[in-house]
Amino acid sequence: MNSHYRVVVIGGGVVGASVLYHLAKFGWQDVCLIERSVLTAGSSWHAAGGIHALNADPNMAALQAYTIDLLSEVQAESGQDINLHMTGGLTLAGTPARWEWLQSAYRVFQSIGIEDCELMTPEQAQERCPIMSTDGVLGAMWADREGYIDTTGTVHAYAGAARKRGATVVENNRVLELNQVPEGWQVVTEKGTVTCEHVVNAAGLWAKQVGRMAGIELPVSPLKHHYLISDTIPALEQIDFEVPMTVDLEGFTYLRQDQKGVLLGIYEIDHEHWAMDGAPWDYGMDLFQEQTDRIEKELILGFERYPVLQEVGVKTWVNGAFTFSPDGNPLVGPVPGKRGYWSACAVMAGFLQGGGVGKSLAEWMIHGEPEADVYCMDVARYGKYAENKQYIRETTGQFYSRRFVMTYPNEQLPAGRPLKMAPSHDAMTEAGCKWGVSWDLEVPLYFAPRGFEETPSLKRSNAFDIVGEECRHVRTKVGMVDITGFSRYEVTGKGARAWLDQIMASTLPSAGRARLAPMLAPDGRLKGDLTILNWDDETWWIMGSYYLRAWHMRWFLDHLGEDVQIRDLGEEICGFALTGPRSLKVIEKLTDGDIAGLPFMGCGEFDIGLVRARVARMSVAGELGFEINCRYGDHVKLRRMLLDAGEDQEIREYGFNAMLSLRLEKSFGIWSAEFTQAYTPGMTGMDRWIAWDKGTFVGRDAAIAERDGNGPAQLLVTLEVDAGDADGSGYEPVWANGSRIGFITSGGYGHTIGKSLAMALVDREYAAEGTDLTTHIVGVERAAKVIAASPYDPEGRAMRG
Ligand SMILES: Cc1cc2nc3c(=O)[nH]c(=O)nc-3n(C[C@H](O)[C@H](O)[C@H](O)COP(=O)(O)OP(=O)(O)OC[C@H]3O[C@@H](n4cnc5c(N)ncnc54)[C@H](O)[C@@H]3O)c2cc1C
Repeated sequence: MNSHYRVVVIGGGVVGASVLYHLAKFGWQDVCLIERSVLTAGSSWHAAGGIHALNADPNMAALQAYTIDLLSEVQAESGQDINLHMTGGLTLAGTPARWEWLQSAYRVFQSIGIEDCELMTPEQAQERCPIMSTDGVLGAMWADREGYIDTTGTVHAYAGAARKRGATVVENNRVLELNQVPEGWQVVTEKGTVTCEHVVNAAGLWAKQVGRMAGIELPVSPLKHHYLISDTIPALEQIDFEVPMTVDLEGFTYLRQDQKGVLLGIYEIDHEHWAMDGAPWDYGMDLFQEQTDRIEKELILGFERYPVLQEVGVKTWVNGAFTFSPDGNPLVGPVPGKRGYWSACAVMAGFLQGGGVGKSLAEWMIHGEPEADVYCMDVARYGKYAENKQYIRETTGQFYSRRFVMTYPNEQLPAGRPLKMAPSHDAMTEAGCKWGVSWDLEVPLYFAPRGFEETPSLKRSNAFDIVGEECRHVRTKVGMVDITGFSRYEVTGKGARAWLDQIMASTLPSAGRARLAPMLAPDGRLKGDLTILNWDDETWWIMGSYYLRAWHMRWFLDHLGEDVQIRDLGEEICGFALTGPRSLKVIEKLTDGDIAGLPFMGCGEFDIGLVRARVARMSVAGELGFEINCRYGDHVKLRRMLLDAGEDQEIREYGFNAMLSLRLEKSFGIWSAEFTQAYTPGMTGMDRWIAWDKGTFVGRDAAIAERDGNGPAQLLVTLEVDAGDADGSGYEPVWANGSRIGFITSGGYGHTIGKSLAMALVDREYAAEGTDLTTHIVGVERAAKVIAASPYDPEGRAMRG
C-alpha cells in the first residue's frame, strides 16, 4: 500500500470492485481498494447471484442491462470464471392489473432499447419452466438477458481485471478514520495512513459508519433477506436445459436453478431491519438463523407455484442482510458539501446494478458528469430530512415489503408521511385536499368531496372528473393553488449578476422582471429549467422544482463564483398562485400597489392585505396569473384573504394534477420528463432561451456546436393521442410504420381542450406537424398525431392578458 493514491475505494464487495475496475478502465490507475476483511466479506459472498435486466424504473433498467452485458467482458478480461448462466428469465403476472402492467412494461423496455423480451401465455411460460404451476398465472414476460452468476467469482473478476489495469487491492485492513484535508482526504487504516484526492464509500453493510467518519448521515439501512436451496429435484435431472430465472410477482419469490435443485428467494412482507446504525465491525461472513415463521405466507405461495419443492428437502437456508435506501435505488455520486467524498452504497442488487453504478461513478469522478441520466440513483436526490432514523425505517421497510407489490402511478404510499406540511395544510385538508408528496413536503393533488377515495389505476382514475372540473374552472374563472412545492434560491452579493450570467445560458432579466433560464453542464446538456427573478433590490431568485433542492444546491455551490451568496429559501418562503382570467380582479382588491400594471413576467414586492409578499406575474397553466410568495408564517393568513377576496369571482382551490394537465395543453415541459440531464437544448426547444450573443456561459461551446452542427437527432413534439380510457405517462414507445422512432416523455388528458395529449422525443424526420404515428398506452396500440405546440391558446393571449 502506498502512502498516496488518487482514489481510495473503501469496501471490497461487488460495488467497490466495480468502481475500482471502471476507474482503472477509464484511465485512472492510481487507485486503491481497501477491504476490512477479504473481498466479498459483506453482503456479496452470500447473494443469490440472480441477474435480470428488468426494473420498473427505466433508467435503472438501462443500467442493469449495461451490467449484464459487461459480465462476460469482465470474465474474459480477468480470466476469472464467474459461472455465467444466461438462462433467460420469466416474470409472471398473477392478476389482471399486473398482466396489464406487464404488457405496458414490455413496451417501455422496448422504448429504452431492451428489445430481447417477449410476452407469453402461461402455457408458453411453463414450457420454459416446466416445474412451475400455471395456477393463477395470466401471462408472462420472457427476457433473454437474465440468468445467474457465481457471486464470489464475479467480485474477484472485477478486482482482478482492475489489478491487471494497474489498480491496487489491499485486504485485511479496516479503514478507521477519515479526515478532510486541503488536498482531499486522509484515510487512517489499520495498516497506516493514506492520503487521496477522492474517497469512495462502497462499504455496503457498513456504509452508515463510513459515512459518519466524514460527518455524513446516509439514508440507508440493512434488512434481512432469505433464500433456500433445495435438494436435487428429479424433474430437473430429466430435462436437458436449465429452468429460467423466474420471478413470481404475486408470490413474492424469485427462483433460479442451482445445480439440479433450485434457489428460491423471498421478498418478505413482514420485513426485519438489522443494524440500522451499520453492521458490527466484528460481523464476519455470518448468516442469521432462518425465520420461517416470518416468511410462512410467501413460502406457501412458493411451494404452490413450484410443487416439486413439496417433494424434496431444503439443502441450505440463507438469511443474510443487504442495504436499502428509501426508494430502493442506490445512493451514488458526490455527497453535497463534502468535496472529494463519493457515495457508492445502498446498492440493493449489486450483481445486477454494480456495473452501472461503477461506470457512472467513475465517469462522474473523471469527467465531472456521468454519461447517462442517473438522477434516479443520485445521492443528492434526498435532503436532510432523510437522515431521520424513523424516516429511514419506514421508507426502506415499505420499499422492501412492496418490492414485488404493484404500485400504481396514482397511488399514495404512507411511509414517512406526512412529514413537512405547508402552514395551510390542515385548512386545505378540511376543504377536501388530497395530498401527494414531493421530497419531504405534502403537496396538493386535487380537492374532492368528503369521503372520496381515489382508486389506484394504470388508467384514468375516478378522480378524472374532479381534476377536469378544476382545470375548466381555472381556464374560465379563477383558481388558487398552494405553491409551497416550488423551490426558491436567493442569490445576493456583489458578484451575483456576473455569476448568474455565467451559470445560466439565458439573458438575465432586467430589474423587476422574471425570465426562463436553461442551465447547462459544460458538455452542453441540460442541468436545469429554471426561472430567474430580478427583484430590483440587489436580490435575485432562482425558482425550480421543489424535489431538486439538494441536487440544485450541490451544483450551485460546486460552481459558486466570487462574492456571491446563495441560500435555499425552501424552509422560509412558500405561497399561493392565483390562476385564471379573473385572478387580477381578486388580487387587485387586496393591494394598493399597481398590480394591474405588472407586465407578463414582471415581479415586485406588494402588500397583499396584511402580508408583504413578492409577487410575480406568471403561470404554469399559461393563464393570467400571479405567484404570491410569502413567509411561512403568513401562509394561513394569505390563503384566507385570497379566498375571501375571491368569493364573488367564484375562486376555488386546485391542485398539482390540474396544473400538470393545464401545462400539457400549453406544451410546457417539466424536469424529469421533457427536460433531463440526458437531453440538450436543441432537442427540447430550450435553445429558444439561450443568449447566443453572450460572451461566455457554462456549456456555451457545446451548445453552439449543437446549433451549428447537423442538429439534434430527436426533437420534442406534442402529440394528440387517440386514447381510450388511459393516457400516456412516460417512456411509451412511439412508432412510425412499425419502426420505433421515439418515446413519450409525459402525457395526460387535456381537460379543457378535450384531448389526450403527450409530449414525445421523436426522430427529427417525424417531428413535422401532421405526421401520423402510433404509440402504446398501457400496452394497447393507439394512433397519435404530431400537432402544433400549445394546443391551448397558441398565441399566448391568456397569459399575456
Ligand atoms: C440473501 C441475499 C440474496 C441476494 N441476492 C442477490 C441477487 O440475486 N442479485 C443481486 O444482484 N444482489 C443480490 N443480493 C444483494 C447483494 O448481495 C448486494 O447488493 C451486494 O452484495 C452489495 O454489495 P456492496 O459492495 O455494496 O456491499 P458489501 O458486499 O456489503 O461490501 C462492502 C464491503 O466493504 C467492506 N468494508 C466495510 N467497512 C469497511 C472499512 N471501514 N474498511 C474497509 N472495508 C470495509 C466490507 O468488509 C465489505 O466487504 C442479495 C443479498 C442477500 C442478503
